[in-house]
Amino acid sequence: MQIYENILLKDCSWIKIGGPCKKFIVSESSDELVNTLRDYVLNGKAFDIIGWSANTLFADNGVDCDLIQVKSKNIQVGLDRSLYRDVKLKRVETRHQVFRTSTISSGYDISDIEYDETEGEEILVKADAGVPLPYIINFLNDRGIVGLHYFAGIPGTVGASVVNNIHGGPKNFSDYVHSVEILDQNGDIRLVYHDELDFHYGYSKLQHSKSVVITVNFLLRLGDKNRAQRAATMWAQKKASQPKNSLGSVFLNLTKAQQEKLGLPTNSVAYLIEHVLNLSGYRVGDIMVPEKTPPGQVQINKNIIMNVGNGTAEDYYAVVDKIWTEADKIGIRLTVEVHMKGFTEDRIKKFYADENVDVT
Ligand SMILES: Cc1cc2nc3c(=O)[nH]c(=O)nc-3n(C[C@H](O)[C@H](O)[C@H](O)COP(=O)(O)OP(=O)(O)OC[C@H]3O[C@@H](n4cnc5c(N)ncnc54)[C@H](O)[C@@H]3O)c2cc1C
Repeated sequence: MQIYENILLKDCSWIKIGGPCKKFIVSESSDELVNTLRDYVLNGKAFDIIGWSANTLFADNGVDCDLIQVKSKNIQVGLDRSLYRDVKLKRVETRHQVFRTSTISSGYDISDIEYDETEGEEILVKADAGVPLPYIINFLNDRGIVGLHYFAGIPGTVGASVVNNIHGGPKNFSDYVHSVEILDQNGDIRLVYHDELDFHYGYSKLQHSKSVVITVNFLLRLGDKNRAQRAATMWAQKKASQPKNSLGSVFLNLTKAQQEKLGLPTNSVAYLIEHVLNLSGYRVGDIMVPEKTPPGQVQINKNIIMNVGNGTAEDYYAVVDKIWTEADKIGIRLTVEVHMKGFTEDRIKKFYADENVDVT
């Protein structure tokens, strides 16, 4: 375990933004994490959890609690399934849409590297919440255990990826999550199964809970190692063409109803921002939406906000707010995917309003 005091979050957060944090604790195993959390929970001390912060914006004023970062590389393959109840993994509808026209670059099209592996023998794999996604994908591919390759190129930890129910092309993380071990607000460890996590597109019940994910059990399959490795490489290459100085996609893609309301050819918010709101290149300080992509070049996702220098959280907020407000003016309430920490509730609640969590 490592403890850092009085740090600036912009020195250690993914997007290099954020003010002071009094205590930043790095837990390097599940045991350390559980012990640290129990101390906080049982003594009523305020804390928040963080993985790689690849999906988190810290305010310029920092945070008014200690931060506990979850780090680990512990993975266990082939758990005894008789110790767990049977779980049927329910597929959540994703909002990825294959889209191809002559006027829009193939940057929106991801059909070429999708395939299904449903034949192989099932295998249960346990990973600590702090295991990095890139690490577990390589680890499993090397052993011919397939499924998670759809998420290649996405930065972050497996714990946060369950909380966010991340999406990679046609797959949601929940397609592979059997159960999670959590530490609840009483300091107790509990096993919570797939069907209790209320997974939707970009959502799990854990987002509205004070529980911390300690380990994740994945239900995966043995499969074609070379094919999975090839697909992982291609997914990672596609991701690599998108700006890293960002927090990934800012808004959830449109619901079917929103897409139909605007009569759009795709549910992509990137398309909405670029072609309807005309906000490509919109900039406040050093925070900006990517410029319009010149014809013939790889399409840069406009549902991404970049820090191109010394951007601040207030600038980032201003760009999010501009897009959100312009969409609202045409009757579309967008939902923000990025977690904003250290902001007052009244400033950010519209971005996450419950009615926006429309899962159809
Ligand atoms: C370049 C780039 C590309 C991306 N591409 C994609 C993509 O294709 N698809 C996609 O879905 N996302 C994408 N993202 C977003 C991001 O990678 C994922 O959301 C990832 O899961 C974030 O992991 P993290 O560890 O960095 O989460 P963090 O930002 O550290 O945490 C996210 C939230 O989860 C909470 N949390 C973290 N760990 C735990 C835990 N153990 N228990 C309980 N709560 C916890 C945090 O408090 C926070 O609220 C991208 C981001 C970037 C920067």
